[in-house]
Amino acid sequence: MINRRVTLAQRPVGMVGPECFARDEGLSPTPGPGQVLVEVTWLSIDPTIRGWMQMDTYLPAIEIGAEIRSGGLGTVIESNNDDIPVGSTVFGMVGWQQYAVLGADALVIPEGVEPQAALSVFGITGLTAYFGLLDVGRPVEGETVLVSGAAGATGSIVGQIARIKGCRVVGIAGSEEKCAWLTDELGFDAAINYRTDDVAAKIREHCPKGVDVYFDNVGGDILTAAIGNLALRGRVVMCGAIAQYNDENPRPGPNNLTTLISMRGRMEGFIILDYLSRSGEAIADLATWVMGGDMKYAVDVVEGLDQAPDALDRLFSGANSGKVMVKL
Ligand code: NAP
Repeated sequence: MINRRVTLAQRPVGMVGPECFARDEGLSPTPGPGQVLVEVTWLSIDPTIRGWMQMDTYLPAIEIGAEIRSGGLGTVIESNNDDIPVGSTVFGMVGWQQYAVLGADALVIPEGVEPQAALSVFGITGLTAYFGLLDVGRPVEGETVLVSGAAGATGSIVGQIARIKGCRVVGIAGSEEKCAWLTDELGFDAAINYRTDDVAAKIREHCPKGVDVYFDNVGGDILTAAIGNLALRGRVVMCGAIAQYNDENPRPGPNNLTTLISMRGRMEGFIILDYLSRSGEAIADLATWVMGGDMKYAVDVVEGLDQAPDALDRLFSGANSGKVMVKL
């Protein structure tokens, strides 16, 4: 079978542009012992792909000429693994291509779970929100949780978990529509439009007792504003820094880190891959909340493998609400 791929043509400098991608066609790969061949059906589009395109991070950089690394779903069409039958839907690192070989660690998606849910609230996004907030941020009922990128895939779930745990929740997002969605639909107590509001002043207004947990998806000036409003023993969860991923030169760090000393604060980063062995406990809670009507999730679907670069761009322009994914 012919396998169409979107590959890495050159490493990005600044914003990812069309020059970074190439398209090619070759023969579909052949599964070895214990492996399966899948027809890729959905791609998960994540900000971390931009980092993988540029440099070594927590995973090695994508090689020039290789397909763009990406999580996604596929239907098994050939199996050398008794635990993963032909016809099952699996999640794995499929890459931006039509056919992929996955190993024994391919995760079989239970029947009845919609692909949009499997790639968002019950996927890496939901796990990131769950463990980042509860394990790293450790909110306590009655505390104030501030989250940036709040109308995005991860942030929208973080805010709802915090609400369910009895916290006051304030979100930061990039448009009035997104802010209205947070407060009117998702039950956030307040929302701040970072494009039009004085963020530090609005955090002070909406978090009068200070910020007990700041879940940071964006870094940059918003991180500085949040640190400046930390409550005593406040925690900063370093999940992501999308405002900085396209920086061509390292930007100066927050100039108020001494606040962590006076407030006895804590900043801690995490990578969700370290929590995958505990995914069952997160999915059980998330499923209870979604099926009980306590939690909503939004998806932003782009059609077609060739559109994957445009889908990635949506994360950086803020065109998306909720989880960006590509349907092949
Ligand atoms: P997402 O939030 O669905 O999409 C990214 C959002 O970031 C956009 O919707 C945009 O919304 C906002 N944004 C873009 N540029 C911005 C800027 N300059 N300033 C402020 N906001 C900006 O994406 P996601 O997949 O859920 O990822 C969110 C964050 O989590 C990313 O930083 C990602 O790297 C991180 N992450 C970390 C882990 C981990 O293991 N640590 C795992 C998954 C994701 P606006 O309209 O509001 O600007």
